[in-house]
Amino acid sequence: MKHRIVVLGAGYAGANAAGRLARRLHPADTEITLVNAEPGFVERIRLHQLATGQDLKPRPLADVFAGTGVQVRIARVTAVDAERKTVHTEGAGEIAYDTLVYALGSTAADHGVPGVAEHAHYVAGRESALRLRARLADLAAGGTVLVVGGGLTGIEAATEIAEARPDLEVALAARGGLGDWLSEKAQSHLRTAFGRLGITVHEHTEVTGVEPGRAITAGGGEIPAEVTVWTAGFAVHPIAAATTLEVSAEGQIIVDETMRSVSHPDVYAVGDAALAPGASGSPLRMSCASGVPAAHHAADVIAARLTGRPVPPNKIGYNAQCVSLGRRDGVLQWVTPDDQVKPSAVTGKAAARMKELICRTAVWSVSHPTSMLPVRHRHLVPVEVLATAV
Ligand SMILES: Cc1cc2nc3c(=O)[nH]c(=O)nc-3n(C[C@H](O)[C@H](O)[C@H](O)COP(=O)(O)OP(=O)(O)OC[C@H]3O[C@@H](n4cnc5c(N)ncnc54)[C@H](O)[C@@H]3O)c2cc1C
Repeated sequence: MKHRIVVLGAGYAGANAAGRLARRLHPADTEITLVNAEPGFVERIRLHQLATGQDLKPRPLADVFAGTGVQVRIARVTAVDAERKTVHTEGAGEIAYDTLVYALGSTAADHGVPGVAEHAHYVAGRESALRLRARLADLAAGGTVLVVGGGLTGIEAATEIAEARPDLEVALAARGGLGDWLSEKAQSHLRTAFGRLGITVHEHTEVTGVEPGRAITAGGGEIPAEVTVWTAGFAVHPIAAATTLEVSAEGQIIVDETMRSVSHPDVYAVGDAALAPGASGSPLRMSCASGVPAAHHAADVIAARLTGRPVPPNKIGYNAQCVSLGRRDGVLQWVTPDDQVKPSAVTGKAAARMKELICRTAVWSVSHPTSMLPVRHRHLVPVEVLATAV
C-alpha cells in the first residue's frame, strides 16, 4: 500500500509543501492529497488590492497541480482525529493519512471586541475582501473609512484604499505609533506617504467597539467610520485546538525545528497554523515570508525521513519586512534573520517594485509546483529500516 500524505490547506504553505513533496517522492509508493475548501489558490497577500477594485488572476488548483501527481480534493475540513489518523471533511468524506501536513492558515482575529463581527469588514480572506470591495464601491465621495490595526496589513489596507479612492476620508487607528517598530528612515517615509495620501492617523488609540457609522475608543471617544476595516491581527481556525494535538494558547500546532508536531510524530504543521521555531529558535511570525520556507523545510524533512536520508537543518530566517503603500510606493525594511529591524530601509518606487517582485515570486512558487528544483523522485525505504532512522 502507498504511503498516504495528506496536506490540509492550499495556501502559500500547503500548496508549496504539496508541490515540493511531489518533487521529492516517487509516485509509485507515495500518494499525495491536497485538500482545500476553495477550488482556486487565493493570493492572500494581495487581498487589499482585491478589496479596492483590482482583479487577481484566477488560479484553479486543478490546473496548478495537473500532471504533478498531487490529487486535489475540494472539500472543507471539519475535524482531524489525530489518534485514528483521519480527516473529516464536507465534500470528500473521511480521508485517512499516514503523514499529515496541516496548513489551514488563519483568519481575522476580532479579539472579542463588541460589534466587530457584526459591523466591521476584513481583508484576511477572499470572501470578506470582496464584501469590502462592494461596500467601498457603494460609498459616496466624502465617506469615512477607518482601518483598525497599525501592523503591516493595516498600513497596506489604509494606503491602498486612500490611493484608489482619494475622494474618501480614510483614517487608521493604531495601538502604538505609526510603524513604531520600524527604523527611523522607514517611519519617516511612512509619515510622508500617509500625509501625501491624506490619511488621518490616530496613534496610541485602542478601539473598543464598532457600531454602525463609528468606532468607539478606550476612554469613550469615537471616530466616524461608515466603513470599519478590522486588521488587528490573525487568528487560527479552531480545528487544531479541538484535536489531541499539542497547541499553543492561540490554537497553533506546536512543532519542533523540523515542523513536526511535538505530540504526534506523523503530523507536521506549517504556515500561520503552526507555532514553529526559525533557525534562531525564535518563533516564526504569521507570514508568507516564513510560511513558504517552512513548507519547503517540512517537505524536505518528510521526504528525508521516509527515504532514510539525513534530516536537513532548519535555515528559516527573515531578511526584510516589505510593505506596499499603494501601487507606486513602499517600504522595504531590512531585518536580521530573527526579524529584528536594522537601521537601513529602501523606500519609494524601488521598494514598491521589490514588493511586487516578492508577490510575484510567492505566487510563482505555488503555480509552478514542480519546476523550481530538479525533480528527484526517491523511493521510500521499508518501515523496519525507517524505524531505526527517524
Ligand atoms: C492583506 C494581506 C496582506 C499580507 N501581506 C503579507 C506580506 O506582504 N508578506 C507576508 O509575509 N505575509 C503577508 N500576509 C500574511 C500572509 O498572507 C499569511 O501569513 C499567509 O497567507 C499564510 O499562509 P498559509 O498557507 O499558512 O495560510 P493561507 O494562505 O491562509 O492558506 C490557508 C488555506 O487553507 C484553506 N482552508 C482554510 N480553512 C479550511 C478548511 N476548514 N478546509 C479546507 N481548507 C481550508 C484556505 O482556503 C486556504 O487556501 C498578508 C495577509 C493579508 C491578509
